[in-house]
Amino acid sequence: MTRVVGKIVGGIAGFYYVATEHGIIECRARGKFRKDNVTLLVGDIAEIQMINDREGYILNILPRKNKLTRPPVANVDQAIIVFAIIRPELNRILLDKMIVLAESNDIEPVVCINKVDLKEDKEAFDLVSVYQKIGYKAVATSTVTKEGIDELKSYLKDKVSFFAGPSGVGKSSLINSIQSNIKLKTGEVSEKLLRGKHTTRSVELLSLDFGGYVLDTPGFTALTLDIEKQDLRYYFREFLEFQGGCKFSSCLHIQEPGCNVIKAVEEGLIDKNRYVSYISLFKELKEKEKRRY
Ligand code: GDP
Ligand code: ZN
Repeated sequence: MTRVVGKIVGGIAGFYYVATEHGIIECRARGKFRKDNVTLLVGDIAEIQMINDREGYILNILPRKNKLTRPPVANVDQAIIVFAIIRPELNRILLDKMIVLAESNDIEPVVCINKVDLKEDKEAFDLVSVYQKIGYKAVATSTVTKEGIDELKSYLKDKVSFFAGPSGVGKSSLINSIQSNIKLKTGEVSEKLLRGKHTTRSVELLSLDFGGYVLDTPGFTALTLDIEKQDLRYYFREFLEFQGGCKFSSCLHIQEPGCNVIKAVEEGLIDKNRYVSYISLFKELKEKEKRRY
């Protein structure tokens, strides 16, 4: 039988479900993975040997681009960072923290401001344009009026994405708005997962009918920044074009004299709230560092 390459979209109790050009193939992993202590993850690109047209075993996995531990998933392209413009109240610092988290894991952030139907003013759209100006993909959505849903879909196309954000902002509603049959698409896997009730259910990648995958579990459930405080400035993209003008090349843009980033904030060239987030996250990293020593 043939060898094919596919993506692990689900797994339970020693079985992995690999999406291939021949459909979803139920696989066991070769013993060598256990021997080498390699844990296969949903999102892994696997080379499989087919035994028949439905079953096979995993020979190898290709090198990973990135890996999250909570939830366990590999090779994620994008984090859809969802906040509601209201209910619950939008936390800018947490939003910016999630952007840093994504970028420090080599995951492209997409900012999604949901529940725009609840606000008459254009606050959500102003916020979206702040992030667009920096160079991020950003969209204002409503699962009630369906505003922005098509644009969101265009960002999800052909990518592996997960939704992140506080509870109650509309992540599940957005996933359901993208595609009505989204749970059914991987029915084959879900059926197996249901039968294996007693075993811990792992995460699953849901296949989008217009191309791409969405993780069924929200990401960034553990929110610790794992970077050095002096590296934080590189994750605030819009600082980069100004930092060359700082008096000191080591400038952290906190209170150093001749800081060109602070000047840009004062002149309105950098969004003030982004700078507030920067200072707050810097302090957080500094505290963390103190506790380490
Ligand atoms: P999650 O915890 O982020 O998955 O949020 P849910 O999808 O469960 O949504 C939380 C609540 O917000 C539910 O009552 C939804 O009906 C509601 N909701 C979700 N999206 C919208 C929206 O765009 N507009 C409004 N008005 N309510 C929404
Ligand atoms: Zn500076």
